[in-house]
Amino acid sequence: MKKVDYIICGDYVLTMNERLDAFHDGAVAVKGTRIVDVGSAEAVLKNFSAGRTIEGKGRAVLPGLVNTHTHAPMVFFRGLADDLPLKDWLEKHIWPAEDSLLNPGFVYDATKLACLEMIKAGITTYNDMYFFGGSSAAAAKEIGIRAFLGAGILDFPGKTAQTPDEYLGNAEKFILDWRGEDLITPCLAPHSAYACGPGTLKRITELAERLGALVSIHLSETEWEVGEILSRYGRRPVEHLDAIGFLNQRVLAAHCVWLSDSEIAVLARRGVGVSHCIESNLKLASGIAPVPEMLRAGIKVTFGTDGAASNNDLNVLGEMSTAAKVHKAVAKDPATLDSKTALLMATRWGAEVLGIGDRAGSLEKGKLADMITVDLKKPHLTPVYDMYSHMVYAAAASDIDTVMINGRLVVDSRRPVTCDEEKIMQKASEWGKKIAVYNSGPRQVN
Ligand SMILES: [Zn+2]
Repeated sequence: MKKVDYIICGDYVLTMNERLDAFHDGAVAVKGTRIVDVGSAEAVLKNFSAGRTIEGKGRAVLPGLVNTHTHAPMVFFRGLADDLPLKDWLEKHIWPAEDSLLNPGFVYDATKLACLEMIKAGITTYNDMYFFGGSSAAAAKEIGIRAFLGAGILDFPGKTAQTPDEYLGNAEKFILDWRGEDLITPCLAPHSAYACGPGTLKRITELAERLGALVSIHLSETEWEVGEILSRYGRRPVEHLDAIGFLNQRVLAAHCVWLSDSEIAVLARRGVGVSHCIESNLKLASGIAPVPEMLRAGIKVTFGTDGAASNNDLNVLGEMSTAAKVHKAVAKDPATLDSKTALLMATRWGAEVLGIGDRAGSLEKGKLADMITVDLKKPHLTPVYDMYSHMVYAAAASDIDTVMINGRLVVDSRRPVTCDEEKIMQKASEWGKKIAVYNSGPRQVN
């Protein structure tokens, strides 16, 4: 018998590999940061002895969920100003609050809260776009979550830089400082084609190529954006980015709501990954992305929560459920976005668009041990006919029982083990008192 660190058992093990292998009474063996075997519990328990065996009765085991677009520190702005037009929301509430309060301490404390929320919801990897990346990296590393952290880049002055030169310099330094870390992957994150001109975007493409970095950008989120880019450059947003040589496999585009057929073809041809943020798009009334059309064109569409201020939670299970239902209704076809496809988008494809599909996103021998167990002993999950269906249409974040990232347990039977949950929420409440003056409703905070 070979010695391993963990054997994690489940009544159901969904591997989400190419063949979508699934095991009834299955198990996963983990040694160090890697999965060393996946199969029937009988075979795994016969071949391996573990430092700790996690029982599988009434549980399902799946790869960890991947959140491909968020602004983690914005959790502190959750519920601060809702039900407002985007312009009022940003200009009267979010930007003034950021202007006066944003600093490295804010980003560190807020990222801890966001990471705590995400791990408890079964998210093992997230892709962020924000500022003060060093503070985000320190917080994510402490929590033990796999984090792709995009250094925000704008053409206009902000909290971290005054000019594109300064933003790019900061981004390069951030990438050089943090690359090589096990869990942290520093990236580039130009905000959008309307906040960054062609000159800045071309320099970002060169820098990404030189450093081998992922590039995240908001793309065609609103009708306003399409009109704005058309009036500035005479081309629609995707056509514009393609014309300046920006689109390639390193690019992960968030939203992609307003696309023409030819723009869908361009995204597919360039191998651009897409983060579909259905709940944010619904709440901000941005529109509904043509997801079935993108999938038919062969684009890897994945799920992003966007920031908590426009969602209002960081819960990929919720995104899957909402997206699957909305796209059925839009297509007038209940077969649209079936549960297996939705779960693939939330797991393996998420890892693929982040460039780690060969190492993560599914439960396979040799891959990184990023996985979750789901407690099935719940009224809304009993009985089980189809585990994929339960995960997409019935499971809640509170059903996530145990979470392993990189071979380390970060949530053990609902209890976070890498951080002090009470202390993180206490800090968040203290920040909330300072932020409350930017509230759109009655000035009240607990
Ligand atoms: Zn966003």
